[in-house]
Amino acid sequence: MRQFMTHSNQPPKALTAHPQDAAAKVATTPVVEYQVVRSRRKTMVIHVRHEKVEVRAPLFVSEREIGRFVDSHREWIQRQLNRKAQQDAQRLDLSDGGSIFYKGRTLRVRLLRATRESIETTESEFVLFCRDPSGAGPGRALQRCLLAQAQAVLPARTRALADYLGVGDKLREVVFRKTKTKWGHCTSSGRIQFNWLIMLAPDAIVDYMICHEVSHLRVMNHSAQFWALVASVCPDYRTYVKWLRKHEHRLWL
Ligand SMILES: [Zn+2]
Repeated sequence: MRQFMTHSNQPPKALTAHPQDAAAKVATTPVVEYQVVRSRRKTMVIHVRHEKVEVRAPLFVSEREIGRFVDSHREWIQRQLNRKAQQDAQRLDLSDGGSIFYKGRTLRVRLLRATRESIETTESEFVLFCRDPSGAGPGRALQRCLLAQAQAVLPARTRALADYLGVGDKLREVVFRKTKTKWGHCTSSGRIQFNWLIMLAPDAIVDYMICHEVSHLRVMNHSAQFWALVASVCPDYRTYVKWLRKHEHRLWL
């Protein structure tokens, strides 16, 4: 996301020309295709997501000005689009011969039929034993395996760390949920929730997530005090935060 001040001298009459918060039309320039969304905001901002470029603009800014604004940022926009395309190419592919980023290594997927679902890894392969290696079968099998891993590992470690930090009495329960945006969550009532897809990440990342959520039992926000607490247990947390930012798109299933 990029945000810039606009320096428009457009008269306020433009306010009446566009309804508030109206999603407007698609504009085209020779370089970038984008959608304009008008609102009462004071600045222009460009969002690039899902291969689409969206410009959020104040009501008083002219189409021409928006066009110039987009044009002046087209290199940045192109970089964002390229990055997204690259991320899409790295997405988990659970077909036989596809690839998976598992515990920090890119492995070739091999699907084998078996009555008991499990994961085995070799130097170069990720072998998924599943009941049905066709269609949605492997995806479901992988999720069941990861959930089982998460259930075997996370509650006990979370409990141990909560006791260590003296907040064991605040931890009410550890639950699992696959969400689209979050790896973990902690409520003020003492419920810690983990996304079991985190089990695809290296153990150090999993431990950092536990540390992050348990620290919230003591400090609910992301203040300096919170990060100091995280650092007291997990001194390299910055490395893990960066790792997640860089690689998390490869873990979504
Ligand atoms: Zn947090």
